[in-house]
Amino acid sequence: MQDNLTPMMRQYREAKDSIPPDAVLLFRMGDFYEEFFEDAEVVSSTLELTLTKRQGVPMCGFPHHALDTYLPRLVAAGVKVAVAEQMEDPKFAQGIVKRQVTRVITPGTIMDNALLNPSCNNFLVSLAAAKEKRALACLDISTGEFRVTEISDGHKLCTELNRLGARECVISHRLAAELRETDGFPETRNKILWTELDNDDFDFSRAEEFLKEHFKVATLDGFGCRNLPLAVSAAGAVLRYATENLRQDAKHILKLEVYSVDHSLELDSISQRNLELVETMFGGGKSGSLLGVLDHTVTPMGGRRLRNWVLRPLCEHDAIVARLDAVEQLKLDPLTLAELRETIGVVRDLERIVGRLNIGSANPRDFQTLAVSLGVLPGVKTLLEVFDAPLLEQLNNRLELFPELSEKISQAIADEPPALLSDGGVIRPGYSQQLDELRAAATDGKGWLSQIQQREQERTGIKSLKVKFNSVFGYYIEVSKANLASVPEDYIRKQTLVNAERFITPELKELESKILGSEEKARALEYQLFQELREFALGFTGGIQNAANALADVDALLSLAECARLHHYNRPGIFEDDRLIIKGGRHPVLDAAMTGSEKFVPNDCLLDGDRNRMMLITGPNMAGKSTYIRQTALLVVMAQMGSFIPADSAEVGLVDRIFTRVGAADDLARGQSTFMVEMVETANILNHVTPKSLVILDEIGRGTSTFDGLSIAWAVAEFLHDDPGCRCRTQFATHYHELTELAQTRRGVNNYNVAVKEYGDQIIFLRQIIPGATDRSYGIHVAKLAGIPTPVIERANVILELLEKAADAPRDAIASLPRNTVKARRKKGREDESDDMIQLRLL
Ligand code: ADP
Ligand code: MG
Repeated sequence: MQDNLTPMMRQYREAKDSIPPDAVLLFRMGDFYEEFFEDAEVVSSTLELTLTKRQGVPMCGFPHHALDTYLPRLVAAGVKVAVAEQMEDPKFAQGIVKRQVTRVITPGTIMDNALLNPSCNNFLVSLAAAKEKRALACLDISTGEFRVTEISDGHKLCTELNRLGARECVISHRLAAELRETDGFPETRNKILWTELDNDDFDFSRAEEFLKEHFKVATLDGFGCRNLPLAVSAAGAVLRYATENLRQDAKHILKLEVYSVDHSLELDSISQRNLELVETMFGGGKSGSLLGVLDHTVTPMGGRRLRNWVLRPLCEHDAIVARLDAVEQLKLDPLTLAELRETIGVVRDLERIVGRLNIGSANPRDFQTLAVSLGVLPGVKTLLEVFDAPLLEQLNNRLELFPELSEKISQAIADEPPALLSDGGVIRPGYSQQLDELRAAATDGKGWLSQIQQREQERTGIKSLKVKFNSVFGYYIEVSKANLASVPEDYIRKQTLVNAERFITPELKELESKILGSEEKARALEYQLFQELREFALGFTGGIQNAANALADVDALLSLAECARLHHYNRPGIFEDDRLIIKGGRHPVLDAAMTGSEKFVPNDCLLDGDRNRMMLITGPNMAGKSTYIRQTALLVVMAQMGSFIPADSAEVGLVDRIFTRVGAADDLARGQSTFMVEMVETANILNHVTPKSLVILDEIGRGTSTFDGLSIAWAVAEFLHDDPGCRCRTQFATHYHELTELAQTRRGVNNYNVAVKEYGDQIIFLRQIIPGATDRSYGIHVAKLAGIPTPVIERANVILELLEKAADAPRDAIASLPRNTVKARRKKGREDESDDMIQLRLL
């Protein structure tokens, strides 16, 4: 059947067979990229191009120069794209033009700068599974980062996928089938493209062989992969998939790091979103998030690093203190801080330049930027030498200099090189004598031609004699019909036109071959010199990556110091116990935003693992409860990432996980009711919390009827306080003021409320968290503020009064509940309370 195909269609089929089945093929034909069959349908609908039909075959195409516009749009839409180029000039092709797939671009294997976000990594991940265990490998082919970890807990895996912000994940058919049957694919904020590969691709020995071959090592033990077969499977599969798509080796992937998610403070995906760590909940922009306030980085690497720090605060005392020491020193020396930021600001995206250099798409300007970036390193080193904070010293030591490379590039590359090598003029005059001579020959040759024209005009006396060029027979002399009589003997006739004759001379032909030959030779030599320079630069790949890595840390630290200076942050104390004592704390985002006359009102926080385990915060709507409890979580995140914080003083006992249940995150898209979402999130907290955790609960139980909701809120609070597995630090904001009674029966629970001032029927929010309980919810006051018409407000006040009078009735009914119903709700570990008391306090 294949034989019936035209040669062109056979070529197309072959190309199609060599790419992943779910990729669309852009097939270069002359000046167009053409798509056929289903691919044409995908491309035409994604790009809104016209779909045509030829002999019943759906077709779609666009001019080749539109590739730069259309490719990003296809990839952004989550389409995998393969590009087949013409591998020879159609003019010289014998038979059908050779075509070849030169690259496959999937969301996880982008190298093109235009498609990448400078402030985010672009991770391709893979999952391998065996029994309960999962291994996750992540690869950013654009920066060269390659890591792997084993995770046993599905919840942590989901957290990690969200932290990585992965766009594409490769898994085996087997695992995909398993996920479909059981828990489903992990849910993530970004849409992930799930790419299924053969089960064999995850085979351990195959993966191990591939990695050993890639790293040119005899064993993977050096990367810490001993006894981690699952990790090796995941890592091998992901690297193989990436290099297959690139159609070349990824030589800049020089190492594989094994890491553990347990080395950082766990912020599950719900908390990442609720706390608006790197993007806002609505709109999804960086501005308005914690990162938006903290990010004063001046390089793309630094920006990516800081983002990573925000999502992965530390949980080891010494590591945090090391960062704080560095930030402190930088902050105390604002002049050097400013100078460092200015100097480092010159450095461009070294990681990605090195990536492009290695996979061959680096252009002449990349070299120039590389040289400029490396050129400032000595200055950075000198500036850093002022400091003796161990972390800064360490980073400075890791900052290698590359004088030979920067010198070589400055010598070789012209001042303002063109973007494309093929444009010529890339290599600086004076770098290669041979190139200079060829270039001179080409230009001089042109000068000689005009000399010849002048000389011949004089010799023959023909004023209109011209030396001209065409592609058919090169340089020639043209003489008009009227002057033919004066043509000398030694001219050789080549062509007769209506009004003129064209001649050549041996001298002209000799010059011609010199000029044309030297232009071509110059281009070839330039190409060769460029490749040599590239080869030379490749030798520095690892060193530049290390320097870029150190610079990323330095930039992130500078950013934290700059932010601390700008917003008057202070250094938090870090402790191993369970205290969380904050004086005059401010919400970092609101604090930075409220620069006008209205200032953010600072508040304190008092928590420890003992008598102050749970802060129960009541108060009217709009008083500032939600802001306050989020603020607590954000301050802990900042402190543990090594940042100064907006507070007069703070003592932070290390937190292992932060859990939040904040606001009504209605997930209509997932088709779950608000209340279901709320309960799922709450269940997640109760099932995973540890005594070192910080739990932030906002309005639990709001999504159902009052009694249901109150009972749930009550039981959750008790569980967090009493259960020996929890006993964590908790801030609980609630509009159920009945809950304040918990403080009387639980020694770790304390009541707080948000101060308001009443002026007649007006209320003023003071935004101050003060000890004590509220007994009113002020809902009607808020309704009035919101503009509810006066008759409605008056009627509501009357109804409220009636309800409050009748409020005792249900209590009586519940007090007569049988004793064991209440007991059944209780967990082990209750401390200071008789059963009767509980029963009485329950409502
Ligand atoms: P609640 O959860 O009690 O209903 P919110 O925390 O949503 O109240 O706060 C309501 C508004 O009050 C916020 O949008 C914020 O602008 C303002 N606010 C909250 N806390 C403070 C504060 N400490 N200082 C100044 N303004 C605040
Ligand atoms: Mg609220």
